[in-house]
Amino acid sequence: MGFFQDTLPIFKKRELSFLESYKEAEDVYTFLFEKEKDLTWKAGQHGLFSITHKTIKKSIRPFSVASSPTENIVKITMGISDDPSDFKKAMLELKQGMKVSMSGPVGSFYLKDNSPSLLIAGGIGITPFRSIVKQIVAEGNGVQKQINLLYIDSKKSYIYKDELDGIASNPSISVTYLYSRNDLHQEIDKFTTLNKNNGKYFIAGPKPMVDSISAHLKNNNISKRNIKKDAFIGY
Ligand SMILES: Cc1cc2nc3c(=O)[nH]c(=O)nc-3n(C[C@H](O)[C@H](O)[C@H](O)COP(=O)(O)OP(=O)(O)OC[C@H]3O[C@@H](n4cnc5c(N)ncnc54)[C@H](O)[C@@H]3O)c2cc1C
Repeated sequence: MGFFQDTLPIFKKRELSFLESYKEAEDVYTFLFEKEKDLTWKAGQHGLFSITHKTIKKSIRPFSVASSPTENIVKITMGISDDPSDFKKAMLELKQGMKVSMSGPVGSFYLKDNSPSLLIAGGIGITPFRSIVKQIVAEGNGVQKQINLLYIDSKKSYIYKDELDGIASNPSISVTYLYSRNDLHQEIDKFTTLNKNNGKYFIAGPKPMVDSISAHLKNNNISKRNIKKDAFIGY
C-alpha cells in the first residue's frame, strides 16, 4: 500500500510556474515555483523536474522538495558548478512566469512515526531535511518527536544555517554542524548506543557518502529496515 502511494504520483505530471531564483551559497542556487492549491507532498519527498522551454538531452532530474507543504511554495536547491550540465544551464535561464514540469512528488523518504530519528545530511543532502524539520515546526507537534539532525559539510558551507538555527530552538529538534567524518561517526555512535533499533535513520547526500554512512550504521547493528536513504547520484 505505502509503496504504491509513494510511487504512483510519478504518473502525475504538472507544470510549475517559476517565481525567482537566488544564490544560496558558493555554487548553490535555490529556485522557487508557485504551488497550486491541489499540489501537496510528504515532507522529504522528491519530484522529477523537466526543462520545457528548450530542447536539451537528459532533460529530467530528481530534486528533493526543500520546502514543507505548509510553506505554500515549491522550493528546490541545487549545486551548480562553473561548468554545469545543460539541465542546470537551462535552470539558470528561467525568468518569472516560465514553466518547468514536475512529476510526483514521490518516494518514501519521510517520517512515518514518532520514533527518535537521526537525520544525516551530507552537503546538498540537507534539502529533504529542511522540508521535514519545517513541517514539524509548522505542525506544532514537535514535542512528540525527538529529531537529531547531523549536517556535515567538509567546506563548512552550511546552507539554510540561519533557518536551521532558529528551528533548533524547538525543544525536540537538535542540529549539529560537522565537517569531519570522525566527528560525524562519533555523533552517530552516540545516537545508536542510546536508541539502537528503536530509532529511525535517514541519510541524504552524494551517493558515496550515503553508502559509507549506511555501512557504518549496519556495522553498529542497525537493521536495514530502519535505514532510509536518498542517494543523490550525479555528484
Ligand atoms: C532522490 C534524489 C533527490 C535529489 N535531490 C537533489 C537536491 O535536492 N539537490 C541537488 O543538487 N541534487 C539532488 N539530486 C541529484 C540531482 O538529481 C543531480 O543528479 C545532480 O544535481 C547532478 O546534476 P547534473 O547531472 O545536472 O550535473 P552537474 O551538477 O551540472 O555536474 C555536471 C558534471 O560535473 C560533475 N560535477 C559536478 N559537481 C562536481 C563536484 N563537486 N566534484 C566533482 N565533479 C562534479 C558531475 O559529475 C557531472 O558529471 C537528487 C537525486 C536524487 C536521486
